[in-house]
Amino acid sequence: MGQAGEVIARDWETGKAIRLQWEGGRIARLETVPALAETEWWVAPALVDLQVNGYAGVDFQRDALFLEDLLAATRRLQAAGCAHYLLTLVTDEWRRMMERLRHLRALRTQSPELRDAILGWHIEGPFLSAEPGFHGTHNPAWMQNPTAAHIRELRETTGDDPVLLTLAPERNGSLAAIELAVALGMKVSLGHTDAPAALLREAVHAGATGFTHLGNGCPARLDRHDNILWRVLETPGLIVSLIPDQIHVSPALFRLVHRLLSSESIFYVTDAMAAAGAPAGRYTLGALEIEVGPRQVVQLPGSTNYAGSALRPIDGVFRAVQMLNCPWQAAWRHFSLLPAAFMVRRMVLAPGEPANFCLLRTTSEQQLQELQVYIHGTPVDRGSR
Ligand SMILES: [Zn+2]
Repeated sequence: MGQAGEVIARDWETGKAIRLQWEGGRIARLETVPALAETEWWVAPALVDLQVNGYAGVDFQRDALFLEDLLAATRRLQAAGCAHYLLTLVTDEWRRMMERLRHLRALRTQSPELRDAILGWHIEGPFLSAEPGFHGTHNPAWMQNPTAAHIRELRETTGDDPVLLTLAPERNGSLAAIELAVALGMKVSLGHTDAPAALLREAVHAGATGFTHLGNGCPARLDRHDNILWRVLETPGLIVSLIPDQIHVSPALFRLVHRLLSSESIFYVTDAMAAAGAPAGRYTLGALEIEVGPRQVVQLPGSTNYAGSALRPIDGVFRAVQMLNCPWQAAWRHFSLLPAAFMVRRMVLAPGEPANFCLLRTTSEQQLQELQVYIHGTPVDRGSR
């Protein structure tokens, strides 16, 4: 890791040709170069995905995952443009979730590569709604109310790693749990919930700042007068995540959310499970066996519930572009700067920052032609994409 090098490409924000130089894996210099250095390559910061349950055939919900498996999944995510992610654990028996978390954290500690790639942990469950439709594919048998002891154990297990906790505020004890989690430095996102509007506002007041995969984690049919979508869209102070695969959120709803909320209040996640970046077939998500068809729809066999996505991060950007009919740079922000700023800090292309970036060429129709990803100044093997 950490060789020196340089590229000339157009800056994704200004459109101007720049020379980006790196040394020791970090950006050393950025300077604009004369127009004679015409290039059709663009340079943009690498993507950041705050919800990844598994990838490239590797299910993160498995017990005793091997280091090589986690590294392989991470490198495939990198090849798909994503330098940093929150490894996501979904509802299970709490004790087993914490065991898994301890094991994964120990693996991450062993590997500088994983420490850099895995920003922290997204804990989605077990403090979610057990109601039909709202629990999705999370097993309602393991759902429970959050207590101070749970929150303290989660903090002790994760040290000072970034943690995003998704919970349903209608569970008893949730408001106190949100306050404690935030006081202990975690971020709280609401999700898999049917909370009334007043309770959503109380949860924001208690310190919740996010809403997890809006448009999912709810029944396919909703009351047209009053439902969780309308309530969230009317609640100030929530930054929502969306799965931009054209399957989890219909293109019309996707566009409407962008029209109703400020651009700064939306970021994208894949919610990827093991089938992402892997061929169609049968995969596991914890104890569930999941079927993934040729259209990348991820479902329990015989059910209409979605069970995570098979979306690669880079494809998420360009599927969003198709839905919004917008410049690719606009969608890119929602999958890079905005999730990074929500969870940890602004990650930009600037001297001193790690040389994690994407070089890409696009068509005049704003679709991806070619992608080359650099992690700490080293090109990620395209063959592993
Ligand atoms: Zn979910």
